[in-house]
Amino acid sequence: MGIASPKCRLCRREGVKLFLKGERCYTKKCAIERESRRKPPGQHGAMAVSKKLTDYGKQLREKQKLRRIYRMEERPFRTYVEEAIRRPGVAGENLLQLLEMRLDNVVYRLGLAVSRDQARQLVSHGFFTVNGRKVNIPSYQVRPGDEIAVAENKRGSEPIQSNLQKRGAHIPDWLSFDVTTLTGRVLARPTREQIDTDVEEQMIIEFYSR
Ligand code: SF4
Repeated sequence: MGIASPKCRLCRREGVKLFLKGERCYTKKCAIERESRRKPPGQHGAMAVSKKLTDYGKQLREKQKLRRIYRMEERPFRTYVEEAIRRPGVAGENLLQLLEMRLDNVVYRLGLAVSRDQARQLVSHGFFTVNGRKVNIPSYQVRPGDEIAVAENKRGSEPIQSNLQKRGAHIPDWLSFDVTTLTGRVLARPTREQIDTDVEEQMIIEFYSR
């Protein structure tokens, strides 16, 4: 039996958990977890081995890692980086904010999807409204004050019911969720501390600023 699926292979390549497979990522079946149990600490991950990476190599790996976490193709990802650099403030933090405030990511963060892949699919299929209007564009940027709700006709649907049963209580501080109305709210733009994405974002800005 093959140990890792194509998604798990991406995690193994980066040497960290990218959380691409929904529930499985939180269990002992996770390929990264299994690997770290087999090997002594510091040995897992293709890139964690003794091979020394150049600055360019490190920046490239961080960029690929972030792109894979948020399931982005290179072109739209680059557009976010350019926008992040244009905006006032710290470019790396701006980049993470732009990614976090995508509608598909917010749906995932609210626990209404088990993975960002599933969130994207559900958004595309019209499962959610923003401020009462159906939005089926996964990249839609939400704003503070926006209300994201499960569309009326999707509330009893299998994926929503099943995800509600699985969802944990924790959602990030910049969001809130009312389980009775199945409505989430964006309270603020997330700060860096509120984004648990394990990446060195400034390296990614450096990669594109070369
Ligand atoms: Fe596979 Fe998820 Fe573990 Fe990554 S985090 S190796 S996708 S189970």
